[in-house]
Amino acid sequence: MTLQFYSSQQLRKKYNKRNDENFEWGYLGSNGPAYWYQVNETCKGINQQTPIDLKLEDFVNSTKIELNVAKETELILLNNGHTYQVQRLKGNITVPELNYDATLKVGGETYYLFQFHFHMPSEHHVEGRDLLMEGHWVFKTSSDKNAKVAVLGVFFDLGENDEPSLKPIVDIINDKPVEVGKYVSISMSAGKQIFKKVKTVYSYTGSFTIPPCTEGVRWFVSQDVLSISPSQFKSFKYVLKYNSRFKQKRLDGGEPKSHQPWKPNVL
Ligand SMILES: [Zn+2]
Repeated sequence: MTLQFYSSQQLRKKYNKRNDENFEWGYLGSNGPAYWYQVNETCKGINQQTPIDLKLEDFVNSTKIELNVAKETELILLNNGHTYQVQRLKGNITVPELNYDATLKVGGETYYLFQFHFHMPSEHHVEGRDLLMEGHWVFKTSSDKNAKVAVLGVFFDLGENDEPSLKPIVDIINDKPVEVGKYVSISMSAGKQIFKKVKTVYSYTGSFTIPPCTEGVRWFVSQDVLSISPSQFKSFKYVLKYNSRFKQKRLDGGEPKSHQPWKPNVL
């Protein structure tokens, strides 16, 4: 029997090398957000990274956005191994087809819905606290590789009522959760009912909250918190488990210093 000893530097080299080649990002342990730099250096979180801690005063000057679902289209619910994602039926599941019937308009610019998905607990914080869940509606200006990206973040917290528009997802989970890499067709809106409840948003420039952590993403985070019932929470938790990136430094250095007490008004 031979024993091989490595110095810590050698070990690190060996370890990093192995991971650089086969690293699979996730949310726990050595696959977690602190190691995502192995996918892309940007994930080290030096610049405009997301999520951040928001202050109540951030919402005072709400950015005016217009959200619309002109026509409902066929959608699928995909389990991509990191989240449950809803997108259009056609096209490659890893590169969803843009949904030109669901739009986000801001300052004369139109973004089209790409996909939406969920994180548990919420990725953005408000006054130092997270909420039970956050939905991300990802929009793009075109299907071009260099298209601009905008994301609408919507908080969900425990309330007495179900969020009725999430029922189709919950029904699928309760019946038979979608396996990793698989999808099922789903009959639901691309966000019509949810968009109606979004009134006050804070906008800032951030990044994707998953590797490769690409920057230059225009974020719109809603202060209006939607209700999910305990049973809806249980269903989402069963499949999402824990899929949230930790808080990143605010570019403006505006970390809430002394957090204001904040009890969200759950709609
Ligand atoms: Zn997300």
